[in-house]
Amino acid sequence: MSALHQPASAGQRRRASVQPLPSDHLERVWAWGMSASAMEYVYRPSTVEALRGVFEFAKKQGRKIALRGAGRSYGDASLLAEEIGLDLTRMRRILDWNPTTGIVRVEPGVTIRDLWQVAIEDGWWPPVVPGTMHPTIGGCASMNIHGKNNYRVGPIGDHIREFELMLPSGAIKRCNREQNADLFYAAIGGFGMLGCFTSITLALKRIYSGHLAVTPIATPNLGAMLSEMEARLDRADYLVGWIDCFAKAGSLGRGLIHQADHLREGADPSAAQSLRVENQELPETFMWGLAPRSIMWRLMKPMVNNPCMKAVNWVKYLSSLRQSGKTHTQSHAEFAFLLDYVPGWKRAYLPGGLIQYQSFIPAPEAERVFRGQLEVCHQNRLPAYLGVVKRHRADDFWMTHGLDGFSLALDFKVTRYNRERLWAMTAQMNKLVIEAGGRFYFAKDSTLSGDQLHSFLSEDRVKRFLDMKRRCDPDTMLQTELYKRVFGQPALR
Ligand SMILES: Cc1cc2nc3c(=O)[nH]c(=O)nc-3n(C[C@H](O)[C@H](O)[C@H](O)COP(=O)(O)OP(=O)(O)OC[C@H]3O[C@@H](n4cnc5c(N)ncnc54)[C@H](O)[C@@H]3O)c2cc1C
Repeated sequence: MSALHQPASAGQRRRASVQPLPSDHLERVWAWGMSASAMEYVYRPSTVEALRGVFEFAKKQGRKIALRGAGRSYGDASLLAEEIGLDLTRMRRILDWNPTTGIVRVEPGVTIRDLWQVAIEDGWWPPVVPGTMHPTIGGCASMNIHGKNNYRVGPIGDHIREFELMLPSGAIKRCNREQNADLFYAAIGGFGMLGCFTSITLALKRIYSGHLAVTPIATPNLGAMLSEMEARLDRADYLVGWIDCFAKAGSLGRGLIHQADHLREGADPSAAQSLRVENQELPETFMWGLAPRSIMWRLMKPMVNNPCMKAVNWVKYLSSLRQSGKTHTQSHAEFAFLLDYVPGWKRAYLPGGLIQYQSFIPAPEAERVFRGQLEVCHQNRLPAYLGVVKRHRADDFWMTHGLDGFSLALDFKVTRYNRERLWAMTAQMNKLVIEAGGRFYFAKDSTLSGDQLHSFLSEDRVKRFLDMKRRCDPDTMLQTELYKRVFGQPALR
């Protein structure tokens, strides 16, 4: 199944300094989208000292290490075949929480879920969250995640006050905007290539209710969606657009925007109740409480094909016309973590799994490029089953995917029959992105190649990052399959 699960080459084995690793640590580790996996020697330290021990051990054995949080990156960002997988999920302690200032200091394995659950009853919410609550803060900092409010508040890195980073030598660097500032801007978004976060200090956002006011707005085509989002930038706290990727011609890119706004102080008469954790939790059952949600993916599985997904998207668009303009309230968790409603939904894409293709395009070019991408999908008869549009802004992090524009995220089913065509199609789509000065996002990527990396990040930026990597990690101990794929060419090393 896996393209990555290749036994170590004879050349690798002959390297005198490379020692065998204990086979009881050998596990198959999966990309979240399940279209790739790797056999790795997995270590799960629970303390900073144990973490340092794994680095020392790897150095002695002449081995490479891939850092891994909750494994929620769609592609190969935390995989490394036949080497050490360093799983940080047991370093999951909240080190300090100040309910007056909203400043929290956490170990890297604390999840977004842990974070909102500790803070919400004191009236705080993470300033930036992804579409699922399961990623770790270490993984989120490492990819510099964005939320549905990116155009307003920037990526998570803009809210990180400070972090401690363990380098492969075992030394710990304290980094903030004044101290080791270069490393601060390089390691946030540095996809685990410079060191391992051991603690992260984050400023949370004040909220006055457990509810958001949510307004759906149906839009008849892509142009209408982008202009409607643009018109709401100044007043909306969150904006996200769903598009029906099967629609064609004048309806191409039709869909539904959701705008969500925080309630002002005093606007929620039962704020103390709505802020309770139990009033935020997503329901565990459906069908009037009769069936557990955990079985839903099995019901979805027979529908994950072109004709059924076309019908599902069509029905969703028709029903969006009825909801349009009607404001209602939703809990923060319900709005933010829509993708957690159906636990394990990705399994409906088995056996081949799925990839997500997300590109970021400067605002003036976005309609043309996204239109082109959707047309390429139609021409190749490889429609995306889910399409999501967000608005972004530029930021100061070195390896950023952020820019003043829009992103379109497209979910594609992978099968053994379409895999090659799908990869070839994304190469066509990449060309459109690069010509428009667009960007890609390592957390979602599965298909980018090294030459495309230079085009989107600029040679200077890549060189600066690799110089920093040489200083932090002179033996290139930290690697992943993603790193090897996009930075692996000899010219880049
Ligand atoms: C359903 C779904 C929805 C999503 N929605 C969004 C979204 O809206 N916005 C968005 O930006 N992303 C989104 N993502 C992507 C996700 O937020 C990122 O991939 C995030 O990095 C996952 O964190 P993780 O803990 O699972 O890290 P992993 O995926 O395990 O690792 C991610 C990277 O972090 C590195 N890493 C992990 N821990 C550390 C550490 N302690 N120190 C240094 N490096 C480390 C790894 O080497 C790897 O490069 C979504 C993912 C899913 C599955």
